Amino acid sequence: MNRRDLLKQSVFIAGSAFNIPVLTESSFLSKLSSTPTAPASLQLQIGDLETTVFFDGVVSLPSYQPVFAPEVPPDELRQQLQKLHMPIQMAEAGINVLLIRKGGRIILMDTGFGHLNPNAGKLVPALQALGVQPRDVTDIIITHVHIDHVGGILDADDHPVFPSAVYHIAKKEYEFWMSANPDFSRSKGDSANAAFSISFARKVLGAVKSKLNIFEYGQELFSCIIPELAEGHTPGHTMFTIYSGNKSLQHIVDTFHLPLLVSHPHWGCQWDTDFDKAVATRRKIVRQGAEQGTLFLSCHLPWPGLGYIDKAGEDYYWMIYPGSSPNKITL
Ligand SMILES: [Zn+2]
Repeated sequence: MNRRDLLKQSVFIAGSAFNIPVLTESSFLSKLSSTPTAPASLQLQIGDLETTVFFDGVVSLPSYQPVFAPEVPPDELRQQLQKLHMPIQMAEAGINVLLIRKGGRIILMDTGFGHLNPNAGKLVPALQALGVQPRDVTDIIITHVHIDHVGGILDADDHPVFPSAVYHIAKKEYEFWMSANPDFSRSKGDSANAAFSISFARKVLGAVKSKLNIFEYGQELFSCIIPELAEGHTPGHTMFTIYSGNKSLQHIVDTFHLPLLVSHPHWGCQWDTDFDKAVATRRKIVRQGAEQGTLFLSCHLPWPGLGYIDKAGEDYYWMIYPGSSPNKITL
């Protein structure tokens, strides 16, 4: 397969996984919104822990439905988008990737989309802009095995992008994708996307099999990360408490792709393997987050994905962290 064929395949892959109609190479590219090409990162100091949030790019959809709020009347959806000051014409979700430095280790939480989406794959140049080469990354924690999180593990020739890395994944997530028949019967997505997700997940997990460390929920990683099951988006979808001393944040990964789902957790998302379980997980996090004032980090909420969930009357809102420095936040 030559590079042109690979690019065509990549465009198909990106469209297929995100339920975008499969378009020709040029029309697909022209329909994507433009995103900043300069590498973007934000230092995030959690107590003594040095972490950095990197911007990998944007997932764009020509409309919110059917992926988001698939069963909500369009007028009601439009009203709520306007109320939340969200764009109406198209749906966009950023891709935020966290790096943690701990005791000589450089730990990435996921790898972004990699070369498989022309509007993303900006993680590696952003790392390099801070002097981190891909070979310097010692560990990669896989939050769940979707293309926008593990697409950056292999390059266009299927070689590992991070040649020194050990990969860490929750047992339940690994076993789901590697089981004989991963169950998508409770998803509201289409079966072609499920079939693609399964084959892609198996390909990536197979490629890194010899360097895989499988962990259990509650098992502390690197003395600063506690993984916890947040099921629904995928059966083993993992969220993480990241802490140092009395400072912490909760990385909720893909529990919410849009602020809309913080305010309307039950409207749901076709990308969830189990639609109803994802709703239940969202509701629990919304309620607890508002009660406890938890600081959250999210893979897809607006850059840098850092914020709180607040309650006003009976309504819940995503409240972006009110920091003013563009380069560094210290908790
Ligand atoms: Zn995602």
